[in-house]
Parts: sequence; structure tokens; C-alpha cells
Amino acid sequence: MTHALDRPLSQIRQTRQIRPSRRIAPFAESVWLVIDGLSAQRPDAIYYGSGAPARELIPVDRLREASAAAWGDGAGALGYGETDGYAPLRELIAARMAVLGAPADPAEILVVNGSQEGMDVVARALLEPGDIVLVEGPTFPEAVRLFASYEAEVVGMPMDAEGIVVDELPALLDALLQPPKFIYAIPTFQNPTGVTMPAARRQALADLARDRGILLVEDDPYSAFRYDGEDVPPLRAYAPDSVYLGTFSKTLAPGLRVGWIAAPRPLYDHLFAVKECLNISNDRVMMRTVHRAADGFLDDHIAQVRDAYRSRRDALLGAMEEYLPPRATWVRPEGGFFVWIDLEEEADTDALLERAAAGGVIYLPGSWFFPGRTKKNGLRLSFSALPEEKLIEGMRRLGQVLATG
Ligand code: PMP
Repeated sequence: MTHALDRPLSQIRQTRQIRPSRRIAPFAESVWLVIDGLSAQRPDAIYYGSGAPARELIPVDRLREASAAAWGDGAGALGYGETDGYAPLRELIAARMAVLGAPADPAEILVVNGSQEGMDVVARALLEPGDIVLVEGPTFPEAVRLFASYEAEVVGMPMDAEGIVVDELPALLDALLQPPKFIYAIPTFQNPTGVTMPAARRQALADLARDRGILLVEDDPYSAFRYDGEDVPPLRAYAPDSVYLGTFSKTLAPGLRVGWIAAPRPLYDHLFAVKECLNISNDRVMMRTVHRAADGFLDDHIAQVRDAYRSRRDALLGAMEEYLPPRATWVRPEGGFFVWIDLEEEADTDALLERAAAGGVIYLPGSWFFPGRTKKNGLRLSFSALPEEKLIEGMRRLGQVLATG
């Protein structure tokens, strides 16, 4: 008898029927499939899609030194262990959160492989098929896809220039067949709109969530990058029993895959159990690397790169003023990596993308950021990874595209 492993893979593919789970259906459609295809066809187009730090602003030397030092723990760091995270890293994270105004005990911090894994751990621990999750409309698409993969119904909340319109939430909640399992929000320099919820709205959202018994899940990758205006503490400062997702992806580098969840007990214990069965722990050498790199360095590094990102934002906003026609409107972001443009209600930025790419500019069409892709007249620009001259030239090109319909 021939064992399956003795046969070429191509034959096995033909003989086995692969039936994907219902769970992965929401993974099938992705803005990145569209964009990657288009970028490959138009390699000269200026690409505004990356939400990552600029490569030249990643502190490679510091990370390299930290990595070498991290191996100093030798075999002590190479067994199983530290499911909750390397203790000095959890202490560093807790100290940073206290400075933000959202203190957490190191024992409430679970280190994860980026906030994307943090979302997954929270979703696994909480979601049943049919549960409702409220998100900002628009929001981070990978959050929507992830929650939908746990068969949750993902519902968008209204937003304006100051984030979630909290006054409209009671009516929205009353119209739902059941209360949401949680509200997922990116209140500071939101992805994709760049807007920030002022303190009063955060307080109102925290009050509403408390009164209605709804858990808040706050995703906060961008708050370190404020370019002007006053700091606003995280939502967690107003709702200490909420879940907070943090990451080193923007302040150090996304490829490190180090982020964290801060969560109250007993929820923390459920998240810990999920993490244990998901991947036992983060990479223990990498947790030491990030701790050593960040300790005594991260604030200075952030201050330095913040100036570079501020200049990029200003270059982009200046070029938008100069080149974009009046049909394009936007809210000036006080920080983060993104600007969102709204066109007139009937506009379709999915349809427009091909023409924009032919004109030498690629943006992310707004529909991908709404659950169900319901709204089509927005688009997202990221300014973090492009040099100023490209940011400006791209707006000249987009201006031409928008001027001709
Ligand atoms: N949440 C938001 C709002 C993001 O913008 C991103 C990155 N684009 C993530 C989560 C994922 O971050 P991480 O690298 O920490 O998984």
C-alpha cells in the first residue's frame, strides 16, 4: 500500500476534498489582495497604503544590540514558560501605561504577538456565534474580519470629527436584538480616520458602557504619536475595568510582533488560558530584546521620530490644501499615521481606484473599513512611510484624478 506521504502533493490535492470552515469565510476578501495586485501592475504609483513606521525610522542598531544582550539569559530563556510575558517587560509596560494615565498592575498584563493577536485572544475568550460587536464605522478591517470569523455580527457605530457619536448610541443599543458582547474602539488617532475622541466623549462612553454593562475593548497603537494639541488619557482611564490593547509595532517595529493586553480579573485568567492553548507564550528571546531596547530609550526615540512624522503630516496636509478640489473634505489629525478623505455622498472610491492608479497614486478605498462595505465615498491616506516629496507629488496626482470626475 502506498502511504499518502509517498505520493506527490498534486495528487493528494486531487484526492482529498478540502472543505474550509465557515469561520474562514470572512478572511477571503481583503483590501490587501486588491491593493497588492494593483501595486504590482503600477510599480511607479505613489502608495499611501502602509500603516507601518517608516523603515528608516526603525531603530535597528538599538534592536540589534538588545537582541545580542537578550541571548545573555542563555538556556534560561529557551525553555517553555512566561505565558503571561517576561516579567521585566510587563513591568515596563505597566509603568508606561501609568504615564499615559491608565495604570495597570503588571499582573494584569498579558504579552501577545502584536495587538492583532490580542484581538484574537479577546474574541476567542468572549464571542459566541450570533453575538454582536460594536465597532466604529469606519474601523480597522482586520478587526471586523476577525470578529466575523467568530461568527459575530459586527455593527458600525456613527462617527464624526470627534470619533464615536456617543449621544446616538442609546438609540442604536435599543434597536439591537441583544446587547453587544463588547464595543471595540480605537479612540486615539483612529485607524482609518485619524480622529481622536475628546475627554468628555470618553467619559460619556465609559458611563454608558458602565450603565449598560457593556465591556469596552480599546485598541491604542498610535497614541505615542501626538504632533500637536493636548494629550487625552486612554479610554481605560475613564473605564478601569475595560480591556486595553497596546503594541510596540509602531513605536519600535511591527516585525517584532510584541504587543500586550491589559485586562481585569477574572477576564485576564480566561485570556491567559486562551494564550496558553494558542501558542504557549510569545518568543522569549524577543520579549527580552524588546525590553532591553525599550528600557531607557523608547521615550527619546519616540520624541525623535515624532518630529519626522509631524513634518510628513504637515507636508501631506499642505499638499491636500493646495491640490485637492473642494469635493474632498477631511479632518486634520493631531497625531497618528492617517488622514481620511470624504468625497460627495455618491462618490465611489473603489471604482475610482483604477483610474487613480493609472494616474500614479494608490490609496485605500474607504468601503473596506466599514462592516459590510456599506459606504463608498471615503478613502484613507497614510503618511508615515513616505518621504515628503512623494507625499506632495501624490496629492498633485490625486488632485488631477479628482478634478476629472
Ligand atoms: N489595531 C490597529 C488599529 C492597527 O492599525 C494595527 C496595525 N495596522 C493593529 C491593530 C495590528 O497591530 P500589531 O502589529 O500590534 O498586531
